[in-house]
Amino acid sequence: QEGAPPMLEVRDVSKQFRGLKALSEVSLTVERGEIRGIVGPNGSGKTTLFNVVSGFYKASGGRVLMDGRVISGGRPYRLSMLGLARTFQNLRLFGELTVRDNLLVALDRTRTRAIWRYLLWPVGIWRQERRLHRRADALLERFGLTEFAAAPPGSLPYGIQRRIEIARAMAGSPRLLLLDEPAAGLNGEEVRQLAEIVRSIRDSGVTVVLIEHNMGLVMSLCERVTVLSNGGVIAEGTPAEVAGDHTVIEAYLGD
Ligand code: ADP
Repeated sequence: QEGAPPMLEVRDVSKQFRGLKALSEVSLTVERGEIRGIVGPNGSGKTTLFNVVSGFYKASGGRVLMDGRVISGGRPYRLSMLGLARTFQNLRLFGELTVRDNLLVALDRTRTRAIWRYLLWPVGIWRQERRLHRRADALLERFGLTEFAAAPPGSLPYGIQRRIEIARAMAGSPRLLLLDEPAAGLNGEEVRQLAEIVRSIRDSGVTVVLIEHNMGLVMSLCERVTVLSNGGVIAEGTPAEVAGDHTVIEAYLGD
């Protein structure tokens, strides 16, 4: 909407680990409905940036705003309540649970009506449970996971596991989704499916920020790309613009 604050604003964020400056005064703005790519050589600070934005690390300086509200300093559960979800570079699924249970534990519960809570609580629980299962079914369907619902994720192909992780992040109905290298380890066909999934997530009104090494995917998905090197932003623009930027090319040559 006109005049609405950006979905995500990172202002002069720094992060220091003992002697090492992993991020130095990083600033970037992601608009509502965007798919933003974050690229950069290994060790440039991409995952650290995600960890700061999602509240897993406390910034040494600067601020993060979501929807115009300061969220830096907030713990991850609180940011998740505000509508932020993320995935991890290394999958973090519950390997022993079924795919369905992995989604069920992540679903946000809606409030039960007072009458069910206080007077007829067994009915309330039953209704709530039925609602959660219906929503799990919808998620399974949406992400093409219905046939794997009863399987433990550990037994499934890697590409499917990545999809489960995205589905689980979406279970909390986020408005902002951070994906950390979603295409890592995927084959060509799986990358193509991933691109479709990310586009459909954006089309459903969710803003997406993704760290990605697969340049083909970044080119096809992102309107804008932010390039990090040595903990700082060295370029930002359309994928074509940053790919032709000599500072960016030099940063990658040193990788
Ligand atoms: P990228 O995701 O771009 O590969 P990272 O954000 O993982 O880069 O790392 C940036 C720098 O910060 C690296 O030098 C890395 O070793 C360092 N770093 C990241 N996390 C930690 C941590 N928890 N403790 C100490 N150093 C860290």
